[in-house]
Amino acid sequence: MDEIKIRGRAKINLSLDVLRRREDGYHEVKMIMQQIDLYDEILLKNIDKGILLESNCEFIPTHEGNIAYKAAKLMMEKFHVDRGVHIYIDKKIPVAAGLAGGSTDAAAVMIGLNKLWGINATKEELMEASLSLGADVPFCILGGAALAEGIGEKLTPIRGINEWVVLCKPNISVSTASVYGNLDVSKIRKHPNTDIILNALENQDLQSVVENLCNVLEPVTESMHPIVKDIKRKMLEYHAWGSLMSGSGPTVFGIYKDYNKAKSAYENLSKVYNQVYLVKTYDGRGSYDHK
Ligand code: ATP
Repeated sequence: MDEIKIRGRAKINLSLDVLRRREDGYHEVKMIMQQIDLYDEILLKNIDKGILLESNCEFIPTHEGNIAYKAAKLMMEKFHVDRGVHIYIDKKIPVAAGLAGGSTDAAAVMIGLNKLWGINATKEELMEASLSLGADVPFCILGGAALAEGIGEKLTPIRGINEWVVLCKPNISVSTASVYGNLDVSKIRKHPNTDIILNALENQDLQSVVENLCNVLEPVTESMHPIVKDIKRKMLEYHAWGSLMSGSGPTVFGIYKDYNKAKSAYENLSKVYNQVYLVKTYDGRGSYDHK
């Protein structure tokens, strides 16, 4: 095998809670994440030496600053591989959007190189090694839907939802660090009831899932960028069953049980915003590899 093409899927948060700020600066979280069928395509080709990275997207670095580059370096060092790789990222996930776009590229590189180079590491080994790249990378390797605890690395796979999702990213970039920096954990007014959502997912009581959508970072990002609130309001006006900001934002998603309503929301939002998407949630059962 000389090359492999892998899909790196985006995620949304059905809930995001921050329990405390640890001494080392990391935040302890409790969140429910689910992948969606919005993905970057990553083409990995064997070369003799080094790491070369290219992308159709001008907003991401093409050197060591790219988390996908770091993922390739990690695979080489950890598994003592003496060859190189050319990485091409066909980016479709908006950047700095709260959708784990970078983390999922890193996960795809690790999964892809594990196959391309015949390393045969287990998923668990890859997940453990990936935590050094970023807190969301282990989830992106796991895929599907999961409860994430700790700093995001303690993962419990769960049954997710199977619905249409409309996503809308306003034309602003939000740095995750600045949102966490502006969060005062002691002043969080409303925490999600994670157990109720988990229970609702278990019973596939989607009415209860959408009623309990909650992200403690939403008010923080909204206060910095009121447009987030406007989009959420519009999403609900356009008949979303439920709506929430994903991650640290600024992307807002709406869940729709009816495809026609989702399509009409997508069309209306597209008249005003450039980055609007209509996709299905993803349960992790499909293949990463699509060659
Ligand atoms: P998360 O939801 O995990 O916080 P995000 O979706 O908010 O992530 P990313 O798209 O991962 O944010 O981008 C965050 C930053 O990382 C950007 O400033 C971007 O330039 C940088 N970056 C490095 N590599 C990548 C990559 N492969 N894809 C996207 N962004 C990358």
